[in-house]
Amino acid sequence: MAKELSCREAGYDCDFMVRSEKEDELIGMVQQHARDVHDTEMSQADIRGAWKTV
Ligand SMILES: [Zn+2]
Repeated sequence: MAKELSCREAGYDCDFMVRSEKEDELIGMVQQHARDVHDTEMSQADIRGAWKTV
């Protein structure tokens, strides 16, 4: 089972989408993207609440 998170589903006008079976890796990628592109910090809890299992 992989986890998937997309900016669009989180309400951003952004085509970023990431899917990974490694939760730690996905969290890291999303946090980096949020910082670089959206100038915001996402906590692990935020990300765990936003992803879906695919
Ligand atoms: Zn984005």
